This record gives sequence, C-alpha cells and structure tokens, in this order.
Amino acid sequence: MTHCHDVIGIGFGPANLSLAIALEEEDAGLDMLFLESAAAGTPWQSGMMLPGSDIQNHPVRDLVSLRNPRSRYSFINYLFENGRLLDHLNLPAEFPLRKEYAQYIAWAAGHFARYVEYGTHVTEVGVEHGAGGADGPVYRVTDSTGRDRYARALVVGTGRPPHVPSPFDTVMDDPRVCHLTRYLPTLAALPEPPRDVAVIGASQSAVELTLDLERRFPEARISIYARGHSLREKDTSPFSEEGYFPGFTDYYYRASREGKRALDAYMRPTNYSAADGDVLRELYLLMYEHRLDGEERIRVLGNQHITGAAPGPDGIGITATETITGEHDTRRADLVVLATGFRDLGPGPGQERFPRVVSGIADRFAYDPDGYPSVSAEYLAEPALAGTPPLFLNGLCESSHGIGDAGSFSLLSLRARTIGDGLRKLAH
Ligand SMILES: Cc1cc2nc3c(=O)[nH]c(=O)nc-3n(C[C@H](O)[C@H](O)[C@H](O)COP(=O)(O)OP(=O)(O)OC[C@H]3O[C@@H](n4cnc5c(N)ncnc54)[C@H](O)[C@@H]3O)c2cc1C
Repeated sequence: MTHCHDVIGIGFGPANLSLAIALEEEDAGLDMLFLESAAAGTPWQSGMMLPGSDIQNHPVRDLVSLRNPRSRYSFINYLFENGRLLDHLNLPAEFPLRKEYAQYIAWAAGHFARYVEYGTHVTEVGVEHGAGGADGPVYRVTDSTGRDRYARALVVGTGRPPHVPSPFDTVMDDPRVCHLTRYLPTLAALPEPPRDVAVIGASQSAVELTLDLERRFPEARISIYARGHSLREKDTSPFSEEGYFPGFTDYYYRASREGKRALDAYMRPTNYSAADGDVLRELYLLMYEHRLDGEERIRVLGNQHITGAAPGPDGIGITATETITGEHDTRRADLVVLATGFRDLGPGPGQERFPRVVSGIADRFAYDPDGYPSVSAEYLAEPALAGTPPLFLNGLCESSHGIGDAGSFSLLSLRARTIGDGLRKLAH
C-alpha cells in the first residue's frame, strides 16, 4: 500500500534543513521526508561561489543557534569538529567566506541525508482523500518522473524564484543572458571570453559580480545599470538591524498593509539595492586605478530605465533611457547578468500569487483584500476550502512577516522552531 508521511518538505536548502534539525533535536517523532531538486553534494549558492566572497549574516545566526545554542549543528561546532576553530577565529575578516559557510551547510545536511531524496524535482501538488491509508485528505506530491508521494502536511521551502524584469523576460533562453543564480554555469558555457558585459541592478550581488568579472576578464568592459542614481551602501545601523529581530516580525505581522509598506520602505536599504561598504570601496578604488592607467573599464550607469533587450549576432542590444536627462542610448553586451533579486509572494508585478510548486492548489487558500496570501503568525497558509491539509511556508513570507523572512539566515532557526511546533501539534 502507498505510504503516507506525516510531513513532506519541498526543498532542502537552509530553511528546511534547519527545520529537520529542529524536529530531530526536539524529538518530534514525525515521519518526515524532504524532496530536493539538486543532486546530493551541490553547494549552497553554487552559481555565485565567487572567490573571496563572504556571507552577509552574523555567523552565529546559523542553522540552529538562536533556537538552541547547545546544538551540535552550529557553525562554531562545525569548525570545532573539523579542526578549524582556532584558525577560523584568527582570520583577519569580519565575516566567514561564503565557501566555508557552504561547507558548513553541506556538513550539517550530511547528517540528515536519511530524510532526503536528492535529485527529485517536485512538479505538482494535489489533494487526495484517503490516499496512503490516511483517513482524511492528504497531499499528493508528484516529481518530474511522475512518481507520487503522500503526506498529511507540507512544508514549502523552495526559496524564492529569480525576479526577471521586463524586457529581459523575453531573452532568458539566450545563452548570453542569465540571472545571478546561474552566473558560474553560464560563464562556463561561453564559447569565448566576453568583451562587453552588462550587470543589471545595484545590489550586493551586482557589485560582487562586477569585481569578479573584472578579475576573470581583464579585457572586458563592464557596465552596471542602476535604477537609482548610483551605488548605495547598505544601512547597517544597529538600530535598523533590529528589523531582523523576532520582535520586529511580530510588529510587522500585526501592521496594516499600508503600515507594512512604510516599514518596507524603511527596511529596504538594509538588504536590497545596496551593497556592503567593503565591496563598494574596493570597486571605487579599482575604477580610480583604471582611470590612472588611462582606461575606463567599468562604468556605473545611474538613473537607467531599460526599455529593450534585443539579441543579435554581435550581442544583446540594451536600450535604456536616462530618467533625469531623458537621453536614450543603446549599448551592446555579449554577456548580460541580472542581479535583479527574487520574487516575493503577492499580487504585484515581480511577485507571485502563491509559490509556483503549489500553484495548482493555490485556490484552496485564502488571500487578504489586497491579494496577498493569508498566512498565520505560525507560517501556516490559511485554507479557504474545508478539507485542505496543513501547508506551511518556510522562508517565503516577507510580505506577511517582514524583512526577517527575506530568505536570509537571520531568523531561520527560530522560524524552524515555530513551524516544528505547529507540525507537532497537528500530529499529536
Ligand atoms: C548569492 C547569494 C548569496 C546569499 N548570501 C546570503 C548570506 O550571506 N546570508 C544570508 O542570510 N542570506 C544569504 N542569501 C539569501 C539566501 O536566500 C539564504 O541564505 C538561504 O539560501 C535561504 O534558504 P532557503 O532554504 O529558504 O532557500 P534556498 O537556499 O533557495 O533553498 C531552496 C531549495 O529548494 C530546492 N527546490 C526549489 N524548488 C524545488 C522543487 N520544485 N522541488 C524540489 N526542490 C526544490 C532548491 O533546489 C533549493 O536547494 C544569499 C542569496 C544569494 C542568491
């Protein structure tokens, strides 16, 4: 007979890994299964594993420590068990290398491999009655090979999908255009080194990518297209950083939609369209040095509204309007990298109504009058139809829970506890 799990987690990135750890450490006694598209051993953020890049979270805000500082699966214990604690503490760096954090995540995930099926891409989710011996409605989770699995509850931890703004949405199948999540594989497939590169966006990733491109391709000219006037430093005020505290999550959750908009506008520069001071200073100095050498290899084009992206034999023609002067310009690029962020849940442009992997059952759930999914404070998507089994959203709730839910590590382990408690309550 078909088996029915207590819970299936879709995705096994940091969010659902943190949940698996919480469920095990707190003896939830649940029959859990996680389905992950990537092959076993694929590093965290592999498309952006740039040499020298560091992480943006305090390393102790890891998979577990805020929930359980005595956990075996902390970053500090990872360093200890791998014989690098003292060496690491002696590093002349504020934040760990992304490479090392990815190794930490892989190490922690390795301890939970028995709960995970890697290389399993979920394509569809439905609701069935009585499947797998259950006496009520359960989720049917179908993968790309057509195989079905069943569970009494679902946790969607797929991360946010890339945001590909117009006009680039029409050219994404061109091998010379990629979102940053595909940066390294795209470079690896280029037939020859690019000579003109366009980096779209003004985020941390845009600056990291520009520095990386400059190092890899000493002959290339790189243009950064920014919507705002130029490149801005992140707001790292410790007062603003309290937006990544659980107290702010509660405050944000209770705010009206208008209040949420005002809070978003305040918190945005802590995470979006802004970069850390170290990479900004490095880029500025580099551009100055290029000028001393009589070159202009990197340009920051501010106030850009991109209206066209036309693939041709010589590259992609990018047409843009300078929003202050009104001047139009078309430049050719033989590589375009989009550092344009990710899509949140919501009704607006650049958002998605409900996570794509569960879009087939989206109408079973409730939405607020503005069109945002109604999500409980405990991350449970509120059903609109009776007979809808529990569905939790793990790492996808910035529009209901605020910036601490913007897919980052900041509150990951506390959210894992909340969702874990919710799953336990449902099971017992
Ligand atoms: C380049 C880059 C650097 C970053 N650096 C930091 C940082 O330093 N600090 C920080 O706090 N945050 C950082 N982030 C934010 C990042 O989103 C989080 O750190 C973290 O990866 C979020 O974990 P997650 O599990 O929610 O999502 P993800 O890491 O995206 O994991 C989701 C997983 O779900 C899988 N999946 C998706 N769809 C399916 C499906 N249909 N079927 C099966 N599996 C599926 C994916 O393969 C993936 O493994 C960074 C993001 C990027 C892009």
